[in-house]
Amino acid sequence: MKTLRSYLSGRWIEGSGEPQTLVNPATEEPLAQVTSDSLDLPASLGYARDKGGPALRALTFAERGTLLKDMAKAIQAHRDELLDLAVANGGNTRSDAKFDVDGAIFTLQTFAELGEKLGAAKFLIDGEGVQLGRSPRFHGQHVCVPRHGVAVHINAFNFPAWGMAEKAASALLAGMPVLAKPATSSALVAHRVMELFVEKKVLPDGALSLLVGAPRNLAALLGSQDVLAFTGSGDTGARIRSLPNIIQEAVRVNIEADSLNAAVLGPDAEAGGDMYETFLKDVLRDMTQKAGQKCTAIRRVLVPEAQAATVRDDLAEGLKAVRVGNPALEETRMGPLANGAQLADVREGVGKLAAEGKTAFGSPAPIAGKGFFVSPVLMEFARDALATSVHAREVFGPVASLLPYSGRGSDAAAIVARGNGSLVSSVYSEDAEFLEEAVFGIAPYSGRVFLGHPKIEMSPGPGTVLPQLTHGGPGRAGGGEELGGARSLAFYMQRVALEGSRPVIQKLLGLQSA
Ligand code: NAP
Repeated sequence: MKTLRSYLSGRWIEGSGEPQTLVNPATEEPLAQVTSDSLDLPASLGYARDKGGPALRALTFAERGTLLKDMAKAIQAHRDELLDLAVANGGNTRSDAKFDVDGAIFTLQTFAELGEKLGAAKFLIDGEGVQLGRSPRFHGQHVCVPRHGVAVHINAFNFPAWGMAEKAASALLAGMPVLAKPATSSALVAHRVMELFVEKKVLPDGALSLLVGAPRNLAALLGSQDVLAFTGSGDTGARIRSLPNIIQEAVRVNIEADSLNAAVLGPDAEAGGDMYETFLKDVLRDMTQKAGQKCTAIRRVLVPEAQAATVRDDLAEGLKAVRVGNPALEETRMGPLANGAQLADVREGVGKLAAEGKTAFGSPAPIAGKGFFVSPVLMEFARDALATSVHAREVFGPVASLLPYSGRGSDAAAIVARGNGSLVSSVYSEDAEFLEEAVFGIAPYSGRVFLGHPKIEMSPGPGTVLPQLTHGGPGRAGGGEELGGARSLAFYMQRVALEGSRPVIQKLLGLQSA
């Protein structure tokens, strides 16, 4: 069986000790094994800081952008191979796999273009300069410079290619070296991507390292110039955030965690109409794409009470047509969950929802044979139900809950807010008054609000994260913020206020003296 090696301190290296086995979640066939025991993590972080950092900082934004472009090209050239790996190791259908791999390519390309736009500079000028005294001579100017540490990126199992690429794109463009740690169960794709970068020599030595296997004490080794971007469960996020070094050294941390995303159907969207159909399509796509294992997937479906039975029946009809099975087969529309722990967690979560609501479609019951399969499940709650689980328990699988509401935007917003922070909420309506109440009521509790509309061509729906917009959400969602074009660079840079003589500062920064 293949043994995965880490790429640390500029070379491939194998850990020793008890390995974990990566399997095909559709067949449970072992695919590879990995261990990170015995790897020298402090030395690996040091190598990234000392070798990769200076090499990246010596480059302009445009030059760093070229690196990202070459990374995108390396993935593109091996796209089919990566899609096959995602099908085998991630339980992805081919379409799920494209979502991950093409998402990685697109994000790298988008940040490569941003690098080109930022041009020959090596740091960012942040806003206008300000006059600080009576005379214009006393001047202030904010600038952002790359931090001198290493950016550690810890990713979840569901997007091994995109997760690695979207974080690395921002950090490398900002001028910080990266040590990426993919989730172990689906690490084959990220591992192959790293092999491609190394084979094609697309990055300077030390700019990107890869740790496969358990994270061990990685987060505890970070200091004040380092940053940590984490995607995964809220519990792990909280554990990382409370590590003594993270607190004492004020290590900058970005957490992308759980989310109970909501889709709200407006009272004007009548059954059978275009808006209604758009809403149904988005809910069905989010429930089944990647078997619902998307942090942005719709979990709570808010529908005016008068429409609830129709929506329930239409969703059940749509779910009935979803063929669950081995994603290697062309007819399969939904593959298995990523691993056995996920399957157990989904079953347990549906049990919690079922204690307070009714099952409208499907069941979490075991499916005979090998693989971590579960059917899609639609739960149903009564209007004004005092249920807590539906607003507190993210069931990370093909599971959503129908929640009838009064039809007023402010009532819908109050229900969405009970989720205590989401990555994305979506609203389907053209009624101006409803939209104002719903969108501005939901906005403080959401990282993104998607206004669904049938006239948006090729709409990806709320579940797709685009690199131009920020990704992250308050509260339960972790309070983080990634992507969003140039905004994301700030996380990897130190904003410093320069204060002094205006001509001196302007000369230092290469600005025209006015
Ligand atoms: P998890 O157990 O928290 O694992 C996530 C990552 O953290 C993995 O790489 C894992 O490594 C690593 N990890 C585990 N314990 C750690 C520790 N003590 N220190 C440092 N790293 C540690 O999460 P999961 O259950 O695999 O992922 C599913 C969750 O991710 C869901 O709740 C979902 O909502 C969330 N998610 C959020 C987003 C978002 O953008 N907000 C996106 C995707 C997923 P190993 O795999 O080696 O254990």
